[in-house]
Amino acid sequence: ATPMSVMTATGRGAQAGVLIRNAEALERFEKIDTLIVDKTGTLTEGRPKLVAVEAEPGFDADEVLRLAATLERGSEHPLAEAIVNGADAKGIALGKADAFEAVTGKGVTGRVDGRAVALGNARLVDDLGGNAGALEERTNARRDQGETVMFVLVDGALAGLVSVADPVKDTTPAALKELRALGLRIIMATGDNERTARAVAARLGIDEIRADVLPQDKARIIEELQAQGARVAMAGDGVNDAPALAQADVGIAMGTGADVAIESAGLTLVKGNLDGIVRARRLARAAMRNIR
Ligand code: ADP
Ligand code: MG
Repeated sequence: ATPMSVMTATGRGAQAGVLIRNAEALERFEKIDTLIVDKTGTLTEGRPKLVAVEAEPGFDADEVLRLAATLERGSEHPLAEAIVNGADAKGIALGKADAFEAVTGKGVTGRVDGRAVALGNARLVDDLGGNAGALEERTNARRDQGETVMFVLVDGALAGLVSVADPVKDTTPAALKELRALGLRIIMATGDNERTARAVAARLGIDEIRADVLPQDKARIIEELQAQGARVAMAGDGVNDAPALAQADVGIAMGTGADVAIESAGLTLVKGNLDGIVRARRLARAAMRNIR
């Protein structure tokens, strides 16, 4: 593209809330054929709400929620916020946590009022020698609704589950439709469970997913696609997404997301909506046409 056409695209992009880092990002974006989208905070609002707490025999649901929320006060994860807010809405007074640890891509562990508490996905339960399989049927029913289920262990025993729902952004379905019409292959990547991911993807007409992905795996997935000849853009919002945004031919950050994601990206969508990608694609095409 000529410096002039790049300036035009950059200026029009900025007006429409699409920040283009430089000419290289614009040129590469025009050649993209594959778009990886993070689920939480990119396709969805990223502000999950607590929808259910279920206790195993011998445990009380309010107590399970109290222990979970007390521990989650130490975490900055959106899932933690949902659980703390859910306890707050029920007027549950929280206890005292210590030895808090965040286990990346899995959950949190620590002690609450002297008891060992752990909260997270099935991987975390496995690591700690528990058996989440006991709740499989109920868990699957919730995941099929697109909910994210987390298990609570108390002193090593399965005490119950908490489940949250994160609505899809209003702008997501129409943006995906246009992106598909532009001929892009769309793949959803998420650290969330496969079943939950599939339910959300099905609602959005996305048929390729990579679920149960650990943060470090997102960049590797992109590398593999690139090795097969794909030219990959990745849209994400989280601290966890930064390495993948850097690995992609073009990283696309949600302006509503983490600073480190924005720093790793070639494009930033100020409003955090995917329709900015459609706009950016048109601007890139127009800029390149000027020189051909
Ligand atoms: P993503 O941001 O792609 O959804 P993460 O890697 O942050 O995924 O988390 C993956 C999974 O690990 C979550 O779906 C959840 O089950 C579990 N997890 C992560 N952090 C927490 C937390 N603070 N509390 C409970 N569970 C968590
Ligand atoms: Mg995210």
